[in-house]
Amino acid sequence: MEAAGAEVLHLDVMDGHFVPNISFGVPVIEKLRPVSKLFFDTHLMIADPVKYAEPFIKAGGNLLTFHIEVTDAPMKVVEHIRGLGGRAGVSLNPGTEASALWPVIEVVDLVLVMSVWPGFGGQKFIPDALDKLRAIRPRLRPDQRLEVDGGIGPDTAPPVVRAGADTLVAGSAVFSGPDAGLRFRELERIALEAEQP
Ligand code: ZN
Repeated sequence: MEAAGAEVLHLDVMDGHFVPNISFGVPVIEKLRPVSKLFFDTHLMIADPVKYAEPFIKAGGNLLTFHIEVTDAPMKVVEHIRGLGGRAGVSLNPGTEASALWPVIEVVDLVLVMSVWPGFGGQKFIPDALDKLRAIRPRLRPDQRLEVDGGIGPDTAPPVVRAGADTLVAGSAVFSGPDAGLRFRELERIALEAEQP
């Protein structure tokens, strides 16, 4: 993916508690780190991000994104991740109101809007995510990223970009066929074209 021009590798970590599936964890990221120069955007779909933040940072995660649904003290989670030397992102599920983010929105490096229910790949994009992106975008500074994850492909990339997303996560749209590099470049072109006024 580096050869295709990707800058960020989005890593979906699932614990089987917060989401009904298990993907991979620290050992896989440790193995990837020496073979990739990409920024590791580590999406922690886990119930206890504070407990596991340190091993994920030590394994090579550059940014850790936790879910707002798992904590009553999101500021503490952000401070904990920063204290370990990582950047901090916050995510919300389709069922969570954007306003749940307001207590930490000014201090995070990234907001990740889930446009499917987390836990499985290959799901269909939930259009409500567009309203959420539009509600969040005006509250972010230029140095903060607005990312969207779930069901992103050639059809959904333009509307999410127009709604304010600047970072798009694609899984199936890139990897579910031959020549992932070509699919990546095509999706990037479509997203950049949508950005034109
Ligand atoms: Zn993700």
